[in-house]
Amino acid sequence: MDPLKICFISSEIVPFAKTGGLADVSGALGKYLDQAGHDVRLFMPLYDKIDTDKYDMHVVDFLQNITLNFNGFDITFTVVTTKLPDSNADVYLIHCPDLYHRGSIYTEDHDEYLRFVVLVRAVIESCQRMGWGPDVFHCNDWQSAMLPFYLKTVYQWDDLFANSRTILTIHNIGYQGIFGSDRLGPLNLQEWAHMLPQDDLADNMLNYMKTGLLLADVITTVSNTYAREIQTAEYGAGMEYILQQRSDHLIGIVNGVDYEDWNPETDEHLTHKYSSKRLAGKEKNKKELLESFNLPYRKGVPLFSIISRLTVQKGFDILEEILFEILQNYDLQFIVLGSGDDRYARLFHQAQYHFPQKFGFYEGYHIPLSHKIEAGSDIFVMPSRYEPCGLNQIYSLKYGTVPIVRKTGGLADTVEFYDWESDSGTGFVFEYYNSDSLKWAIDYAYTTYQHRDTWKRLMKRGMAQNFSWELQVQKYVDLYQHLVGVS
Ligand code: ADP
Repeated sequence: MDPLKICFISSEIVPFAKTGGLADVSGALGKYLDQAGHDVRLFMPLYDKIDTDKYDMHVVDFLQNITLNFNGFDITFTVVTTKLPDSNADVYLIHCPDLYHRGSIYTEDHDEYLRFVVLVRAVIESCQRMGWGPDVFHCNDWQSAMLPFYLKTVYQWDDLFANSRTILTIHNIGYQGIFGSDRLGPLNLQEWAHMLPQDDLADNMLNYMKTGLLLADVITTVSNTYAREIQTAEYGAGMEYILQQRSDHLIGIVNGVDYEDWNPETDEHLTHKYSSKRLAGKEKNKKELLESFNLPYRKGVPLFSIISRLTVQKGFDILEEILFEILQNYDLQFIVLGSGDDRYARLFHQAQYHFPQKFGFYEGYHIPLSHKIEAGSDIFVMPSRYEPCGLNQIYSLKYGTVPIVRKTGGLADTVEFYDWESDSGTGFVFEYYNSDSLKWAIDYAYTTYQHRDTWKRLMKRGMAQNFSWELQVQKYVDLYQHLVGVS
């Protein structure tokens, strides 16, 4: 089998820039595709947040000061390259300070629409100058969803891409990149307007995700359940009709986990490593974690935790309804790490104020702490309204931190309902999105935790699960091969 040429475009790639699971998936997929012997080249913006001194980066000499023409203005970029850590894959970072030095990865600035069209065009122009026609352009979320459109329009003349196929992976349909259709003018796209979703144009909108969903050769998303859910009005965020129409070209591939990064036996962030055979280290991590939050350690008291973006998607509205009651009535402790909506940050600050012995909150983004929380907690709470895949529940399984999840998306595909009668399953799964159901699951977990032997078996079943990328990456390779017609 010849190696495939895969051009992978993402707005976040671990370890360079991350706000969520997209970054983990991009980094891991890049690494494992490279390990499998494919020619994978990854592209992303060079944000000012990226610590360039930390990586061996250098300018690509034939990719300097390239100018993109728009309507009445030009944008110039240069490409900087480095290796994806622990791999031989090349990462190309688009250096354009005017657009990418904004202090954060995403913005609400007036030119957000331009920032990610420049990414897409810079990828195509870089491939042209490399003389590299990828077998597959693999796009991710709305930030690169315009690539299939550009290949079929502005760059259609270039035979280099005549055999290139496109994939768009949906990591979260809730974010679509919707802008006013008056942006068509500055982007110089009026002559191609007939290739864009016409209903949106009639409503004066330009929707990057929708455009990609219509024009990509194949659409994938990050779990089987989510692939089904997004074809319904409840989960489709308005895209359900297109996804139903394109259901023959829509595939769910559940995300893998990079166990080189997330493994309690080797985790560099943990003082005490542990495994399912030697669990003592987990309790030591718990003590240390509680201490770092100024919470008292008491043997036998379960520690619940959350690591998350603080958004309504993650189920914080139903948690809000019961949080104080739970803290009042149960002998448990709770730690939250997250940043996002002020409303939920306030809630957690208040919980900490009213229950200083029971509740700890770290507001912010802290990767080493996220590992320590996974290791030191007993129960991980993920009551998401929707969850395309979700990674923390999979990390939790590996760390013996039993997950409470709502039965949706990837949560449904990765956590198996714990049934006390048959002593089977890996977590506490509830179906309906309301606070009573969540309370039921918390109570069920709390009660089960009191039975130490049962609990240990439950933990160990989770720790034995395998969601490694080695398995999942083959599914992408099969798909690429199918697309380019070699299988
Ligand atoms: P999403 O992509 O919707 O945010 P996922 O569960 O797929 O959710 O991925 C979230 C990733 O981001 C996980 O790796 C999680 O550990 C990490 N993460 C989320 N919030 C924080 C935070 N405040 N600090 C550190 N890591 C975080």
